[in-house]
Amino acid sequence: MTSRAARSAQFGATEGEGIIRCDACPVLCRIRPGRAGACARYANQDGVLVRTDPVVALAHAVDSNAPLVPFAQQEWDGALLDPARAFLTGVGSGTTYPDYKPAPFIVGSTHDGVDTVTVVTEGMFSYCGVKVKIDTDRHLGPEAAAVRVNGEQVGHVTTAEYGSQMLSIGGVRHLTGGSKKEGVVTCDTLLKLCGAEPVEVTIDGGHAVVVQAGAAPIVDGTPETRMRVGCGSAAIGIFAQQWAGHVDEVIVVDDHITGVLTEHQAGRVLDMRPAGIRVRGRRSTPGRYFQVAQPGLGWGGTDITDPLAIIERIDPKLAWPGLRLLFTSTTGDHALYCVLDDALRPVAAEMPAAVRAVVDRIGENCEPSLCSVLFMAGAGGSLRAGVTENPVLLTRSVARGETRVTMGGAPVYLWPGGGITVMADVLRMPKRAFGHVPTPAIVAPIEFTLPRALYERLGGHMDQVQPVEAVLRGLGEDLRVGTWHPANPWPFAR
Ligand code: SF4
Repeated sequence: MTSRAARSAQFGATEGEGIIRCDACPVLCRIRPGRAGACARYANQDGVLVRTDPVVALAHAVDSNAPLVPFAQQEWDGALLDPARAFLTGVGSGTTYPDYKPAPFIVGSTHDGVDTVTVVTEGMFSYCGVKVKIDTDRHLGPEAAAVRVNGEQVGHVTTAEYGSQMLSIGGVRHLTGGSKKEGVVTCDTLLKLCGAEPVEVTIDGGHAVVVQAGAAPIVDGTPETRMRVGCGSAAIGIFAQQWAGHVDEVIVVDDHITGVLTEHQAGRVLDMRPAGIRVRGRRSTPGRYFQVAQPGLGWGGTDITDPLAIIERIDPKLAWPGLRLLFTSTTGDHALYCVLDDALRPVAAEMPAAVRAVVDRIGENCEPSLCSVLFMAGAGGSLRAGVTENPVLLTRSVARGETRVTMGGAPVYLWPGGGITVMADVLRMPKRAFGHVPTPAIVAPIEFTLPRALYERLGGHMDQVQPVEAVLRGLGEDLRVGTWHPANPWPFAR
């Protein structure tokens, strides 16, 4: 049942005067001929309710050496697509509401002699959001601070990770628990982030950041280029041997852990003479200092612009005139070479080439600064009724790894425990994979792939299974064929 009229009946019902009521979500739009519904995903075209975007199938190369099927748009004929290499995604497939209706497509195919079923739908997610990883040591804002778009709170700063600041955006509280405007702005922000569009956020007590999946963050108008090589202590550990003999002390300035080479275990093992330069902050273990300064946009994610400011004292019993001292940040973006004068005061001097080479190597070892966006959602609710009459069996099967979950063909990380809580990299998904409905909620593709015999045991909608050939043929011009993302595992592989 894939003809346009049949699909129309799946999502709506005809009312008088050519009006069609769209049933695909709780908004239940009444759509006049030639008009689209509130989400623009469905329209009344000559009395037929159509999904305004094509369904996306992805064509897989026969083997890794074979050329991938070129992306085809209007001219592609789905009938030409080898069904054995086709994966029908949820993109453009449509949502079903109320959810007891079977999913829009339940596709049967055979792979390596195994009869397989893929249940294909677009889920409506109120319980969803994105986790944003921003590779930078710049301080963007305090942990737990509000993240805003157009003044509305859409998320918060969450725990920083190694070399990255993290944001949590969206979630049910911002989508549904605040004002209508908060929900609308949150939904719009999620949609843009999931579509790899740039979004400018501001952080209370922090900075303005332009975030875009796959692009470098822009902090207060300045594009970030480098992700730090590690914390100050790690940088000491990595480069200590390369510094030995060329400098007498190295201080690697870092917002979290500032490293001091001769005190650090790395310097001791290399038998370096203690330099007697004590930095500010709280000493954690030898050569590792916390809180040497306030967080900021200066050296190593601190507010330091003059590294000499972090020297608390220089011990005259240990230091000596002529001592060669290097300060560097964890990206190598900032570096200062000094020599102690007769009064044991650091005096800036020209950096020797051998020292410069190691600072440059820090920079060389920094990866490009990027933003990553992972969509996270709970698919363990009513969506499951479109897959099976006994939803808990699906949940258990997913948890056991028998049923594969993909989003637009992209692999998901499945959280342990109850429900079907998944995360997927939006850059592994087809373009324009996400939509929204004004409830507000995000619409995202999701597919469940499993052996046909298992699907039957789970209480699947067996009478709705259609051969993949029939589905592709029936979609006709409503089908768009894209190329399988080469990094995504093929869901039918054993
Ligand atoms: S918002 Fe979209 S999906 Fe929901 S009823 Fe209206 S047209 Fe249909």
